[in-house]
Amino acid sequence: MSKQIDFRDVSQMPSVAISLGDMLWNKTGSWRYMRPKYEDKTPPCNAACPAGVDIVGFMNLARVGEFEKAWRLLREENPLPGVCGRACFHPCEGRCNRGEFDEAVAINSMERFLADYGARFAKGDLGYKGKVRQKVAIVGSGPAGLSCAYFLAKMGYRVTVFEALPQAGGILRVGIPPYRLPKDVLEVEIAAIEALGVKIETNCRVGEDIKFEQLKEYAAIFIAVGVHKSKRLNISG
Ligand code: SF4
Repeated sequence: MSKQIDFRDVSQMPSVAISLGDMLWNKTGSWRYMRPKYEDKTPPCNAACPAGVDIVGFMNLARVGEFEKAWRLLREENPLPGVCGRACFHPCEGRCNRGEFDEAVAINSMERFLADYGARFAKGDLGYKGKVRQKVAIVGSGPAGLSCAYFLAKMGYRVTVFEALPQAGGILRVGIPPYRLPKDVLEVEIAAIEALGVKIETNCRVGEDIKFEQLKEYAAIFIAVGVHKSKRLNISG
């Protein structure tokens, strides 16, 4: 009976014979013994993701049924996985190697599933436990403002987000229709960011409801007001 050999690491593999040259002068070729070299490179799907998510990592965890770990890994780089799992145009799938064989792995659908699965853990268990840092003001609670708030809060900064509209979310709330992004999904993700200690002041337009000078008490200000004006086609009728 043949014995199965498992290599746990490339260093355990024996060197293998390969032919490096042509066979014009030596009929058997130019033989060398070489050991395979393992190179760690960024997978194309990871490289294509604007959020920098560890796609291979979370897909591998999901593959073995470790959904909570997969969700936690996903959320390390992406504070809005439920939003991205529905509204992202998934450039990761366009670069998936599997696409050359049959079709791309359904990364976007898995992201959506993990976000929905992880919603039960999302509130409050990712908080920062170390030294509390300075206060930071963020103007605008769209995806940029919320993401900035999420990462700063995880680093220990005390974050206040000022939002002119009655509800947080910016373009995610007023620009994406509910059939594409249900409002309850957005609420869960915003609540999880607030659970990190982020304060969101709605109905508070900076420059009107609060003066710019009042923001001087903050160590830094991140302006994330977005681009709310759309371009018109200038076609009559
Ligand atoms: S679908 Fe998710 S993983 Fe893919 S590019 Fe968008 S955010 Fe990144």
